Amino acid sequence: MNSVINKIRSEIGNALLVAVSKTKSNEEILKCYNLGVKDFGENYVQELVSKMDSLPNDIRWHMIGHLQTNKVKDIVKRNIYLIESVDSIKLANVINKEAIKNNKIVNILIEVNIAEESSKTGCSVEELDNLINEVKNMSNINLMGLMAIGTHSENDSEIRDSFKKMKKLKDKYKLEYLSMGMSHDYKIAIEEGSNIVRIGTLIFGKRD
Ligand SMILES: *Cc1c(COP(=O)(O)O)cnc(C)c1O
Repeated sequence: MNSVINKIRSEIGNALLVAVSKTKSNEEILKCYNLGVKDFGENYVQELVSKMDSLPNDIRWHMIGHLQTNKVKDIVKRNIYLIESVDSIKLANVINKEAIKNNKIVNILIEVNIAEESSKTGCSVEELDNLINEVKNMSNINLMGLMAIGTHSENDSEIRDSFKKMKKLKDKYKLEYLSMGMSHDYKIAIEEGSNIVRIGTLIFGKRD
């Protein structure tokens, strides 16, 4: 684990490494944490909450999976660092409401379905303008950037094209963060301007 983390770090420069720990045990997470990784990403609220409650307080937790509105309170009342998967006004409104209740500012990214694949979550490029305008008016949400999953393809140039589109959107809206790149495509993502990569398999091995 140590050498792969060092390798990733040297390849991503100043970008933030989020270790995606879904399905992985607390022991495995602690091993990674003890190697200096402080950012972890999870997809499911129940799993995230149980890990938040039992692992060190200085871990910065990233919610990267589809988030249901009825689960928002569970993570907002705890110490969520960044919700990367906001994809609707409805969801943003619920996050804002819970943030107000808890007297917090919640950091978010908007997830964009850049590959326009029906299987993927995220707002469409057409909806993005409206969603950003709405979110900017929400008192207790801090919009930090955009997130995307690259096009699912064997063809690197198709993956690269989807990342290029994301970089254009990030620049258009003058946002700070662009979260893109997973185990198989983070090098392309970094070349195209990503500054947050979300890597699971490469660090922890295959998931069951
Ligand atoms: C699981 C997941 C990852 C990590 O994928 P790996 O291929 O294991 O690196 C990154 N981002 C999201 C949104 C995920 O669901």
